[in-house]
Amino acid sequence: MFEKSYAGLYELTEAFPDEESCVRHLEALRWPLGVICPHCGASRKIYRLKRGSRYRCADCKQDFSVRKGTIFEESRLPLRKWFIAAWSLTSNRKGIPSTQLARTLGVTQKTAWFMLARLREVAGQMTGHGGPVSGETEVDETFLGGKERNKHASKRGMAGKQAVIGARSREGRVRAEAIDGRDRAELHGFIREHVAPGSIVFTDDWRAYQGLTDYHHETVNHSVGEYVRGQAHTQGIESFWAMVKRAYIGVFHHFTWKHLHRYLREFEARWNLGNGSESRRMDTLLSYSSGIRLTYKQLIA
Ligand SMILES: [Zn+2]
Repeated sequence: MFEKSYAGLYELTEAFPDEESCVRHLEALRWPLGVICPHCGASRKIYRLKRGSRYRCADCKQDFSVRKGTIFEESRLPLRKWFIAAWSLTSNRKGIPSTQLARTLGVTQKTAWFMLARLREVAGQMTGHGGPVSGETEVDETFLGGKERNKHASKRGMAGKQAVIGARSREGRVRAEAIDGRDRAELHGFIREHVAPGSIVFTDDWRAYQGLTDYHHETVNHSVGEYVRGQAHTQGIESFWAMVKRAYIGVFHHFTWKHLHRYLREFEARWNLGNGSESRRMDTLLSYSSGIRLTYKQLIA
């Protein structure tokens, strides 16, 4: 059994004391049924080369390691540092600023930022993988940035803020996106893209939500101070936004709106990973690490 259980940074570093242990762990996550050649997809004849952690595929005659085709491929950093970064992202409830990760890992802030940015792409793979949310689903939009005041009484006059919208199924899964405004086109567009047709959608009484024809739509009348009516409420998605806002104030106050969608992927992933063990949460994120390679240029573009 490959799973290693640990809690806390000290136990993590004990469980993964060197590159070798990290390589074996990543291999077990990536190839649970045996090594697959990332060049040609063959799995018949793959030989471990004598030195290091490389393999050779007899079908296409190419060599590779477990890093091939993952976010780690072009990184010279030890996997151990990547594991610590992945653990930090999944285990700290509000995330971790790049400055703090840089100190923990002994790397520059720029490097730490890049690592976190890549891990956010992995988080995006993870949340995208689940498809639209479905069933009883709460949808609510809000604004990030600036001062929070009396959200329900007035959502107008929010200059300089960024509108975001999210959907949370009652089972707990969340999708969230930045939006250009709170008009009907934006709200309906998000719901059509991220909530399965036929779902029961709960929203507040903001008029732009009206006319959701492909859904069973129920509203609570926030404008008259109503927050729960039977099953109709939006407290689940509101608690997600509360978490995002605490993180924004406490940890990510430097982030620019340009990168907001990346941070939303991180917030979603952490939320969707649920309350499992730290080791399971990190493993789940790492298991999505193949298939994405972003260059620094792409990330800052
Ligand atoms: Zn091959």
